Amino acid sequence: MESLDRSTIWPYDEHGEPGEFYYSRYASPTVAEAERALGELEGGEALLFPSGTGAATALALSLLKPGDTIALAEGAYYGTAVTFQTLAKWGLRYVEFDQTGPPPDGVQLVWLEAPSNPFLTMPDLEAAVAHPAPVLVDSTVATPVYLRPLDHGADYVLHSVTKYLGGHDDALLGAIAGNDLAELRSFRTRTGISPAPDPAWLLARGLKTLETRVRRQTETAQTITERLAEHPKVVTVRYPGISGLISFDVADGEAARTVETSTTLIVNATSLGGVTSVMESRHRWEGNRVPPGLLRLSIGLEDADAIWADLTQALDRL
Ligand code: PLP
Repeated sequence: MESLDRSTIWPYDEHGEPGEFYYSRYASPTVAEAERALGELEGGEALLFPSGTGAATALALSLLKPGDTIALAEGAYYGTAVTFQTLAKWGLRYVEFDQTGPPPDGVQLVWLEAPSNPFLTMPDLEAAVAHPAPVLVDSTVATPVYLRPLDHGADYVLHSVTKYLGGHDDALLGAIAGNDLAELRSFRTRTGISPAPDPAWLLARGLKTLETRVRRQTETAQTITERLAEHPKVVTVRYPGISGLISFDVADGEAARTVETSTTLIVNATSLGGVTSVMESRHRWEGNRVPPGLLRLSIGLEDADAIWADLTQALDRL
């Protein structure tokens, strides 16, 4: 088991020269070990950041300059657009496009999400990598269990490690994987967007069970999707067939509120990718960008029949 090293400093060598680790804003052993393990899973190198959003900010600022435009997958995690809107006063622009087709011309970065959250479309990676701009895939939901974007020609992979990779809803962390991250690493050190060792240690632990967790969550999600599709109170079910994230619509906002507040096993909370099933109406966060009756359900490791029993007793209140 890797040890958790919380030091911020390490001594110079006997000649007074810094070794691999000397000050934790630059690098630290626990973070480096977690980065090595994640890099191996993604088929490249990996760098950690204090959150997925921190990783997105660091990548955008390090790669782009004022006047540049990002082509962002329509229906991707709404917070990513919020981050880009926040960076607009530094001259960064973004346009949304349908990621199931080719990205628009005249952009300097293509930002895909596999699958998009909460609409759960998969990107056309082949069309995207044919574009001259670098391609980033937010692979938070697919995880390396189902997709290794670098193998398909993507330049960068982003993870909200907070989700499946950490897996236990107790670590806020982000990551970028790629084949040449020297500039991003230097940007991270110089701007101080450096990760702490504790969540990195939790990532290293989470990775040991990632495949087992995600495969089981997928199996359960498949069962739940089939049953939801048959339920008379369910209007639409979205499930891309990988991972444990489902979204489905009930009639309206009031119905969604009734369902999300009536479950007992499934926790009415935000986020996704943990061992505990959580469900929430996304309208409270995303407004009219999503149907008012849309519920996002992240399947945990509980028994499929127990999850279904909880869901049906909630749906039966409608
Ligand atoms: N990308 C996706 C797909 C997400 O779902 C999230 C979090 O909700 C993020 C990025 C942002 O990650 P974090 O919350 O770790 O900043």
